[in-house]
Amino acid sequence: FVANVSHELRTPLTSIQGFSETLLNTSVTDINERKEFLKIIYNHSKRLGGILEDLLSLSKIENESEAREVKLTKDLLRPTIESAGDLFQPMANKRQNRIEIYCDPSTTASFNAPLIEQALVNLLDNAIKYGRAASSISISTKKTESTVQISVKDQGQGIDEKHLPRLFERFYRVDKARSRSVGGTGLGLSIVKHIALAHGGSVSVKSESAKGSVFSLCIPT
Ligand code: ADP
Repeated sequence: FVANVSHELRTPLTSIQGFSETLLNTSVTDINERKEFLKIIYNHSKRLGGILEDLLSLSKIENESEAREVKLTKDLLRPTIESAGDLFQPMANKRQNRIEIYCDPSTTASFNAPLIEQALVNLLDNAIKYGRAASSISISTKKTESTVQISVKDQGQGIDEKHLPRLFERFYRVDKARSRSVGGTGLGLSIVKHIALAHGGSVSVKSESAKGSVFSLCIPT
């Protein structure tokens, strides 16, 4: 894990060092070229920040989960789902995606609202990033006697079956270049998995290439 983290941090760091060294050499005098290099440095530093933020989230959830410090409250689920959906409305509007919510207003579960919202945020972020423009993204809930399943479904590119078993591993990406270009850290799904585990629940994914994916969190009621 440390080797993986080091590798992930080294890539943007190398670019930041390289481009700032070039700028300091003053051989680049063209103002537009200088701006271009500064933009690259800025983007890579943002990337570093994103990785650090996700690593901190992950370790906080893991520690609190191990110490059984995650506070679960029996409450209605729909407001938390709506709140996550609202956060993504501007991003969805830009890509002409519709966010649909199918959750009975009376559905309850024992959950930690900020954590479930964070899991939904990560799943919605992916659904929009890897989804298709002008398509629907749905968040739905399904109740059994002792669990609630919360699913985020997109109509995007889908994921080849061979990747599915490793998808929730830290830094696992299907297409590294695409993940980087859309600002991914490779940690979003492992955060989702640890949030489910902190609730005594589980995660799963069903996907079909070119048809879309469904990511589900199953937590006890
Ligand atoms: P990232 O920050 O790269 O998006 P995640 O842990 O959130 O990292 O996801 C891991 C990888 O799983 C992504 O890089 C992407 O290849 C794939 N992935 C996740 N969600 C979807 C989705 N809804 N549709 C297609 N591929 C997805």
